[in-house]
Amino acid sequence: MAQDLLGSGARPLRVAVIGSGPSAFYAVEALFKVEGLTCRCDMFERLPTPFGLVRGGVAPDHQKIKGVARIYDQIAQDPRYRFFGNVEIGRDLSVDDLRAAYDCRIWAIGNEGDRRLGIPGEDLVGVHSATAFVGWYNGHPDHQRHRFDLDRVRRVAVIGNGNVAMDVARILLQEPSRLESTDISDEALAALRRSEVEEVVLIGRRGPAQAAFSPKELKEIADLDGVAVDVDAAEVELDPASAAWLEEAAPRSAQRNVALLHELASADPASGRKLRTVFRASPRSVLGEDGRVVGLELERNQLEADAAGVPRPHGTGQTERVDCDLVLAAIGYRGVPLPGLPFCERRGIVPNDAGRVLESPDGAVLPGDYVVGWAKRGPTGLIGNNSPDSKDTVAALVDDLGQRTAASLSDDDASAVPALLATRGVDFVDYADWQAYDGWEVAQGVHRGKVRHKLTDAGAILAVMRQLRGSA
Ligand code: NAP
Repeated sequence: MAQDLLGSGARPLRVAVIGSGPSAFYAVEALFKVEGLTCRCDMFERLPTPFGLVRGGVAPDHQKIKGVARIYDQIAQDPRYRFFGNVEIGRDLSVDDLRAAYDCRIWAIGNEGDRRLGIPGEDLVGVHSATAFVGWYNGHPDHQRHRFDLDRVRRVAVIGNGNVAMDVARILLQEPSRLESTDISDEALAALRRSEVEEVVLIGRRGPAQAAFSPKELKEIADLDGVAVDVDAAEVELDPASAAWLEEAAPRSAQRNVALLHELASADPASGRKLRTVFRASPRSVLGEDGRVVGLELERNQLEADAAGVPRPHGTGQTERVDCDLVLAAIGYRGVPLPGLPFCERRGIVPNDAGRVLESPDGAVLPGDYVVGWAKRGPTGLIGNNSPDSKDTVAALVDDLGQRTAASLSDDDASAVPALLATRGVDFVDYADWQAYDGWEVAQGVHRGKVRHKLTDAGAILAVMRQLRGSA
């Protein structure tokens, strides 16, 4: 059979991108910008709707951030791009199916699981991951089974103090009328309207200098009408290790966090719903009565610098109790293994060397498989950080292409995957289906005075897509 240069006009490179969040779209964009490369990109998404955490993670009161989807929408207009929604790899197509149908695969599967607290009482009713709460209020189909009876909750303990913790705290504390015009789910808005929450306790295992939230996020809560940030002056005093670290090695955001916390500690106490910050405390057990959470046992920590000079928490043995009716663990995400794709159990990511997938964490490179985003580097960084990260992986992919040649493609190559899906009875949707549904959500939102009205059930979304397809 004739052989042509892979990625040339005579033999286009066929790339599968798995996942449709920011890192996936930035990878497609980077590929389309490679000069002299002829390629086609098929994107696979388990849900009928694209955009990953931009749709299902970014808080509804951060619509500006969600607006980044307009860039992805432009990328999707390229004729070299196809979207296959409602296709789950591992169920509808196997990793081997993708190996057979594409020259390269870019895994942009994110971190769909959460880290576990690993403490007694973690499974009591009223203990949830922040991921579940975020997915629930954002209308993510995976998370609608959860129940958050906020009418029986007065105090919420949020474990961890990253930006996810700040998102959930802000959603719980603000006046629900502020959320009415957003794309928050109807159920979440109704629960927030009934909410009896008076206080959110934000629990960081290290000190104020190591708080993981961005200063902007703290300021946003402090500026909310009817919300008071309660910072105890003793809590935000720095230990010597942190003071040295803040001066010598800490990022500027840490300095701004500490300055802001001190400002809040010296401010007059405001009235309203409260965000209370607790530092240097780790949860040791969740306390329950009749199977339901009633409190948290915390152990106070002291910080000691590790070999690299980074302050780390060490338990002092001193414990205290925080009464609460709901616990949200916002301690970070974690990847979920996919059958047929290597997984690093320790880090919860796809093992890789600068984006090239490895057979195992110390193993050889798996030719043709690449990884981007949180599945590559773990759950860190803002949406924009994924753009350079995806570009790096695509550069590695292009480097590896070198002078590789491949057999010519048959005329019906492009229809092979749709045909395979059809044979398997997979009801996949394309980008035009998404666009039609997107317009429907927005139009439904207009009737209700909101930016969009999301359906929260994948079956219901598919039914609307089918109906719109029929009437097009
Ligand atoms: P994160 O920033 O890594 O914060 C995780 C928090 O959990 C940290 O305070 C961490 O403490 C703590 N933690 C981890 N394990 C713990 C344990 N076993 N016990 C107690 N505490 C524990 O993660 P995230 O909040 O999930 O956010 C993920 C990424 O998304 C971040 O880069 C974040 O900035 C980004 N994000 C941004 C926004 C926004 O811009 N609005 C919104 C949401 C998310 P240590 O620091 O001591 O490890």
